[in-house]
Amino acid sequence: MLVEGAILDSDGVRRAYVRFRRGRIVETGRPGTDSGRGRERKVRGIVVPSPVNAHTHLGDAVSTREPPRGPVSKLVQPPHGFKFRILAESTRAAKVAAIRGSLGRMVRDGVAAVVDFREEGAAGVALLRAAAARLPIRLYVLGRPVARPIEPEELAEVLTLADGIGLSSARDESDMTRRTVARACRARGKRFALHASEAVREDPDDYLDPCPDLLVHLAKAREDDLEQVREAGVTVAVCPRSNALFGRQPDLAAMERLGLAVMLGTDNAMFHAPSIWRELEFAYVGSRLRRRPVSAAFLARAALVEPWRWLGLPDAARVDVGTPVQPLVVRLPPEDPPYQLVTRTTQPLILRRFPPGGRSAGR
Ligand SMILES: [Zn+2]
Repeated sequence: MLVEGAILDSDGVRRAYVRFRRGRIVETGRPGTDSGRGRERKVRGIVVPSPVNAHTHLGDAVSTREPPRGPVSKLVQPPHGFKFRILAESTRAAKVAAIRGSLGRMVRDGVAAVVDFREEGAAGVALLRAAAARLPIRLYVLGRPVARPIEPEELAEVLTLADGIGLSSARDESDMTRRTVARACRARGKRFALHASEAVREDPDDYLDPCPDLLVHLAKAREDDLEQVREAGVTVAVCPRSNALFGRQPDLAAMERLGLAVMLGTDNAMFHAPSIWRELEFAYVGSRLRRRPVSAAFLARAALVEPWRWLGLPDAARVDVGTPVQPLVVRLPPEDPPYQLVTRTTQPLILRRFPPGGRSAGR
């Protein structure tokens, strides 16, 4: 199959053709210069790296009714928030089925990797890995030990199964907990992440000490806070739909202008479908609504490029022969790829899934 149109990847946007054989790229080049001589099926479209959903809590997909009203803290704060009650009341089988349903939806949407904050200790991480068995999506799990103060045995157990630890926030967790967790993550070459400035502004001196690998939200961060985050070299995951549900928005325009490394996530599965495409469109429109417009190119990078760098797979963000993750073909007009992708992509326009190549879920 020959796709003629454009490529959008970590090298930017260019007019191009991409030739696939059995789902793999065998040739790319300027339109009209392919070696196929018109003998194969030709489609018009945009070829992009497969997107990554960079922040989810898939466990709470088990909650299927409209969440009660109230501040986000009442809903998701450990250990007694609404979601933790639902998690505690649900059977393991129900949670596995709900998570598997969410992962399946992401696969159909072309998502090739997900970074999930998984609560419920080591058992929670094991449950997520079981739910993802044999699905063609890379799972990156940031687990969370349950006991406070931290019990070294439990922390070690979680870190054995997980790719790192994802904590609630510096407001919810003591300095001691954060330091212990960060040190254990470093020692084992794993990632340390936490939420920051979601409902109220927090001092960067708190959430940047110890320095995390990932901060989630920063919806209430001031511009000088964002500068401090950039100076610390920390990547940020933003979730505009989740924030909007509680009347706030991350300042995406400032993040773009300051040059932060930003990734996009869909956050709690009890609030929103884990659709990266809906998140992209909302982020674009929401920034206009707030009169702080962000560019479509910045958002496209947040879903398609930055997460692969964070995951240590920068080659997956390139559309070229030999890329380790198969790209997506989206049947959209190729004249203005970032705008088309961010505002118009829906599942029926995604051509592929070819056999995804690469590893299936799990590590
Ligand atoms: Zn979160």
